[in-house]
Amino acid sequence: MQYRSTRNNTEPVGASDAIMQGLAPDGGLYIPESFPSLIHLPYGEISSYAELAYEVLAPFFEGDELLADLAEICVEAFDFPVPLHPLSDEAMVLELFWGPTAAFKDFGARFLASSMERILAKRGEQLTILVATSGDTGGAVAAAFAGKQRIKVKVLYPKGRVSARQQQQLTCWGGNIEAYEVDGSFDDCQRMVKEAFMDTGLSMAHNLSSANSINLGRLLPQSVYYVYASQLYNGAYGKRPTIIIPSGNVGNATAAYWALTMGAPIKEIALAVNENRTIVDYLESGTYAGRASVQTLANAMDVGAPSNMERLFALYPTDEMRASLKAWSVSDEAIRETIGEVYRESGYILCPHTATAERVRRDHFAGEGAIIVSTAHPAKFEETVEPLIGATVEVPPQLAALLDKRSEYQSIEADYHLLFG
Ligand SMILES: *Cc1c(COP(=O)(O)O)cnc(C)c1O
Repeated sequence: MQYRSTRNNTEPVGASDAIMQGLAPDGGLYIPESFPSLIHLPYGEISSYAELAYEVLAPFFEGDELLADLAEICVEAFDFPVPLHPLSDEAMVLELFWGPTAAFKDFGARFLASSMERILAKRGEQLTILVATSGDTGGAVAAAFAGKQRIKVKVLYPKGRVSARQQQQLTCWGGNIEAYEVDGSFDDCQRMVKEAFMDTGLSMAHNLSSANSINLGRLLPQSVYYVYASQLYNGAYGKRPTIIIPSGNVGNATAAYWALTMGAPIKEIALAVNENRTIVDYLESGTYAGRASVQTLANAMDVGAPSNMERLFALYPTDEMRASLKAWSVSDEAIRETIGEVYRESGYILCPHTATAERVRRDHFAGEGAIIVSTAHPAKFEETVEPLIGATVEVPPQLAALLDKRSEYQSIEADYHLLFG
């Protein structure tokens, strides 16, 4: 399998090269040249999630140096449960929050970390990953890369602007993970990372790399849970579910479209966004325009110019795209109402991101077979959730373990040289 850039101005590469490069040299995003069919999947013989992941992903690594390691990578990366929880009237919740940092980004980050470590071992190389984070992404990346031998991670976060629990998840690792509290904003952190990359001497000396969400190695593994969930749903209800996905940068939704393209038994895909309405406005007007983001309760979805739209535009011709895509915007007020409503009805607790999907289901797919995708555990957003339900959210064991660890970080001014002092 080869991967081409969405901008078509560069030669296609294999999976390992696409993973190591992140962004294509022409500034585009890597996408598969073709999609394998799931028809030959030996469902009856598959006994674990990791095994399913291997079967779904193997064709994407055909001819690549990583294929021989893929089964092991899947066992290593997907070592936590992936439950489908029944909600009400043929609706189920796909709980993607049982990984180490209690959010779905663990799937992509862990697969990427295991893949990179093995590619580096084969090539006899080491690298340093720089991540600027406003909260959640950095935690998933730090957790996934902790303990890897050939990779050092430097996490930068803005002082005083991440929650106490988020800070703990960035600073509790030690070893090959170094946390930097930057005296500045998230934009300053991002600028420092960019400047470090542009400093060619430094960048070469440390073999600098990124692990951001546009990396193919984070996207591919996310297709697997859509195959898994739609197949299970079919087994339970004898029909194809609509899948409703809380979306920001649209990586998770792109992975669902890839699963649909491969033939996963999905009826249709719907996107739930917060007050960042770029996609909804595009579907209404036909003109696509990214913009500045606005702050909402579902803050991991506060994206005004979703970068993975470029991958969706590459998958569908423009006119088909507007017909294939469905998206609705959910206000903060509706998020609050939905969390309260669902809790009173069933005792189930939604995080603010997941609540956008449940709102869309209730308003547009009530009574139809649907899976809502739960992207994070509500305990990560207890300041929002607890007052709405009038109860304490129990912290899941994996998160509790992180909160108990010793925290360690360096405080620095917003100057990238200080990262390499
Ligand atoms: C990142 C994130 C999202 C948005 O996912 P995209 O792939 O960027 O669309 C939604 N919910 C949570 C909790 C997240 O961390």
